[in-house]
Amino acid sequence: MTKIFVIYTGGTIGMITDPSSGALKPFTFEQIIENVPELRRMDYELTVYSFDPIIDSSDMTPEIWAFLAKLIKDNYDDHDGFLILHGSDTMAFTASALSFMLEGLGKPVIFTGSQLPISEVRTDAKENFITALEIASAKTEDGKARVPEVCIYFENKLYRANRTFKYNSAKFEAFRSPNYPVLVEAGVHIKYHDAVIGRLGNPVLRVHTNVSNKVAVLKLYPGISPAIVDSVLNSDAEAIIMETFGTGNTTTAKWFLDKLKSAIDKGKIILDISQCKVGSVEMGRYATSSALKEMGVINGYDMTFEAAVTKLMYLLGRDYPRDRLIRRLSNSIRGELTKN
Ligand code: ASP
Repeated sequence: MTKIFVIYTGGTIGMITDPSSGALKPFTFEQIIENVPELRRMDYELTVYSFDPIIDSSDMTPEIWAFLAKLIKDNYDDHDGFLILHGSDTMAFTASALSFMLEGLGKPVIFTGSQLPISEVRTDAKENFITALEIASAKTEDGKARVPEVCIYFENKLYRANRTFKYNSAKFEAFRSPNYPVLVEAGVHIKYHDAVIGRLGNPVLRVHTNVSNKVAVLKLYPGISPAIVDSVLNSDAEAIIMETFGTGNTTTAKWFLDKLKSAIDKGKIILDISQCKVGSVEMGRYATSSALKEMGVINGYDMTFEAAVTKLMYLLGRDYPRDRLIRRLSNSIRGELTKN
């Protein structure tokens, strides 16, 4: 019988409306099961680890990511796949972080949740839960995991976790992955797009739980002041994600470029990702980004903000020498970026 390890962290999926106050309050995992009687008809053996108390995903931390990674490691050999029930707000961060922390993954780790609580009549939670479970247990003809990746399943689609972001808080289709194709689509049949699913030749799991939060963000906008730029560049962050315009462009004002260069000379890592959600940074395409390339700003290509933050936290936690860290940062290590 297929064995799936389910981790229930919280989020809307496990909430019920308190009739007296109208506020959402948490459900236990047993109450979730009561709301999905279909689970009893499925031929899976579920091992459940429930957070106590369960949490809203806004309260997720790198320490909890490390705890999740360790839980997966400790139960890896005895299970065919992992399903993590998680709030949708920061799901893309946790799932991206785990994609980096779990090196050599050979089994599915699927995150899901919902926009409406599982107890509501129109809930999207049941379908998300049941189909995510089915995908987590899917095998190839030679008995290997069909989707050996960290993924997010939401509203009929399975996405590579580190390509995904939450883009909608009002629709059931809450996630998007515009720079990488959907891995699996669920309709009448569950359609696996095998050509885009990552598969390692001989996967041997290695789990890295040390992450560093010495990461800051510099989001550019016309009119940004030198004082604001200074406050980010001179903070104690070792790496700065610079959210730039279009294909990776910044102002060419001398004061700005001088500040960036001086931060790099002092040893800071500056990663260029775009404020655009679709497309890629192309350093050197315009004069406005040629100077960045020359001074050593690192190209983040088409990485999501969520992948950039968690990849940097992971790489800083590995204590690599600077040149190795930079090489890993600007190359795909878990399928999180495509070079142009
Ligand atoms: N606030 C909730 C959370 O992220 C939202 C959700 O689950 O969709 O935990």
